[in-house]
Amino acid sequence: MTCDEAEVLIHALIDGELDAGHARDVEAHVAGCARCAARFSAWRDLRDAMPVRGLRHAAPASLRSRIERAVPSPAKTDRRALLKGFVAGGALSALDGVTPERLNVGGLLARVKQGVDEVILAMNATVEGQTTAHYLTDQLSDFDVKVTRLAHGVPVGGELDYLDEGTLAAALKSRTAF
Ligand SMILES: [Zn+2]
Repeated sequence: MTCDEAEVLIHALIDGELDAGHARDVEAHVAGCARCAARFSAWRDLRDAMPVRGLRHAAPASLRSRIERAVPSPAKTDRRALLKGFVAGGALSALDGVTPERLNVGGLLARVKQGVDEVILAMNATVEGQTTAHYLTDQLSDFDVKVTRLAHGVPVGGELDYLDEGTLAAALKSRTAF
């Protein structure tokens, strides 16, 4: 890590906004760099001095609402719209009381009976999501339809150093020819 990179991240570290991996990197740099260590303690002292002097002020509600009106709110995109096709109701969860009956499996099977080439199981990569995927695959096993699921692994823009082992293992397993 260079001093320039550290300088940017020091602010985030002091504000408690860094994940464990980045925090370790910055702390390691600060430990070995006198210049950045001096910057770090100066910023930390400043941060510590602010609440004592009562320098933090909440914006009045009227100002806040004026700003909110002036800033255009970003258009909300429904990521599920990307999936376009049929979306079943929720995921199986014994804890939350979502049972197979409450999933819209009947609707899915009716649609498959009408003739579908492929069912893509776009599930959360959670225990509930995967349980549901297995359940639906089981329900679909009597039909002549291809069943696929979304790949699991490295998120777009994600760095390998900060992935957990389970995600890395899933990414390896789902690797594709390049
Ligand atoms: Zn430095």
